[in-house]
Amino acid sequence: MASLATKDPAGQETAQGPSPLETFTKYRTQLLAWKQGKLDSFSKNASLVEKHSNLQQYEQYLNSKITKKLKPCQTKIFPSEINSSKTDLGFVEPVEGGGDAAFLLETSHLNKNWSMWDGGFVGRKPCWLDPKRLPSAEVLKCKSCKTPMLFLLQIYAPLDAPEFENRGFHRTLYLFCCKNPKCLSGDKGGICALRCQLGKENDCYLSATDGMSEDEVVVMEEQGANDFSMFDSALQFPFFEIVTESELDCLQDSNEDIMKKFNEQVEKVTITADKIKGDEITGEDVKEVMSTLPKAVNDGVGKSMTFFHHRVSVAKDQCLRYSRWEDGEELWTSTENRPDVLRGVPLCPRCNSPRRFEFQVMPQLLFHLDGENSVGLSNDFDFGTIAVYTCTNSCTSNSATNYLEEYVWCQQMAAGKE
Ligand SMILES: [Zn+2]
Ligand SMILES: [Zn+2]
Repeated sequence: MASLATKDPAGQETAQGPSPLETFTKYRTQLLAWKQGKLDSFSKNASLVEKHSNLQQYEQYLNSKITKKLKPCQTKIFPSEINSSKTDLGFVEPVEGGGDAAFLLETSHLNKNWSMWDGGFVGRKPCWLDPKRLPSAEVLKCKSCKTPMLFLLQIYAPLDAPEFENRGFHRTLYLFCCKNPKCLSGDKGGICALRCQLGKENDCYLSATDGMSEDEVVVMEEQGANDFSMFDSALQFPFFEIVTESELDCLQDSNEDIMKKFNEQVEKVTITADKIKGDEITGEDVKEVMSTLPKAVNDGVGKSMTFFHHRVSVAKDQCLRYSRWEDGEELWTSTENRPDVLRGVPLCPRCNSPRRFEFQVMPQLLFHLDGENSVGLSNDFDFGTIAVYTCTNSCTSNSATNYLEEYVWCQQMAAGKE
């Protein structure tokens, strides 16, 4: 290894303390003198000097000092709160291959073979799970300014528990939002979440897909009923596929990455007896390493991160966080503009069951919304995060529509903050 000695810009070596070899030699001389009775009183640090009776022990001593220094920053890099995460992260990706239409025919509700349904998508038009009992045009208008909302995204989120087989075997959540940024904050009604469910036995899809081949696309005959007319083509967000991965997996990848960098740093400063003997390192080097390493390692993850940024740093491009009915899993961008804790999230108005957090849209999605096929979003179209709360009873309705409104809270970024 090359010398760790630092040079100043003029190219001259900076003043350095005694080298570890000099220190070692000094201690060992003292130790030998004491053993031979030439020293009456031994140094105050007798046990410390004992450790320097040979180079290997001195090496161990120096390395243990470095390790001790590293420990606190290691715990800081891997905070325990993420290690138990049950959250899935959603990322948006442009559709590859056959284009948007082919993608939709294959993986959305346009395909009668529901075993092919996957994740969800952002933009274009909604694809209705129940094409027979559509939402009214009225519910898709902003409650604040009364203009029609834009379709933002939909995710397929079926309930696996047997008690939901008769009503939540298929389940899709839709999100719509107003283009006017003034309507977005809190629960003003500029964002609307709709939940649509079907039992295993239903009159839209077969209960079993056994007869269908793995990748057979069976286009819905009722496709015509998938009425998109209310979504003017000039008012569509750009289209993206949503792919999901568990936060734990992402954490593992991210940890491996950080751990690799961390180990590289440690490798650089590890002291060996050979290095001491070869006089490759100085006392100053050891001191410098011990004072700068924690900083260098911390910089990798950002020392002054807020909880929000720390958690997001695991996968910076996450656009969606999904964690059905796990209380407190919402990640707020700030402590301001959160739902009123006293009032709480309103109960389901249909069955009076509590509503609990299911998913949130992250501000990272904003980067993708005003792309090539711009919908002409104003510059102040912005949100911190959009949290969606759904009925834990997953109730259904016999009314004309099978699309039930759920509770949404939009947290704007605190004023003057990023
Ligand atoms: Zn509005
Ligand atoms: Zn309900």
